[in-house]
Amino acid sequence: MGGSSKMGVCRKCNRERLIKARGLCSPCYADEMAREKALGANGDAAGLQVTVDFSLAPHILQGLRLRAEDDMRPLGNQIVWELKRAEAAVPVLTELRECAACACGNAANAADEAGGEA
Ligand SMILES: [Zn+2]
Repeated sequence: MGGSSKMGVCRKCNRERLIKARGLCSPCYADEMAREKALGANGDAAGLQVTVDFSLAPHILQGLRLRAEDDMRPLGNQIVWELKRAEAAVPVLTELRECAACACGNAANAADEAGGEA
């Protein structure tokens, strides 16, 4: 023995594999490194990334993975897409969130910036 890797469940692909680093198997670690390199040192400077622990409800992550694979989307895109769809089901909340969170320049946001009535 004495290798640098141990068997374990990869925290990204959830498969039993040799863990290379950061709780990731070799292919997932390579993906992570490539992603970090693409993002650069200030990848999350805008606070737009969130790490989610699905250990309380792993079946949700499994479902997301299956649907992502089925729809041929990266997992992150699948999560954003499903959240967007869920948000659309609650139109009033969606409107409030868009104005407060993204400075999208829509009417309600512009009215707020102007201090109320336009
Ligand atoms: Zn993996």
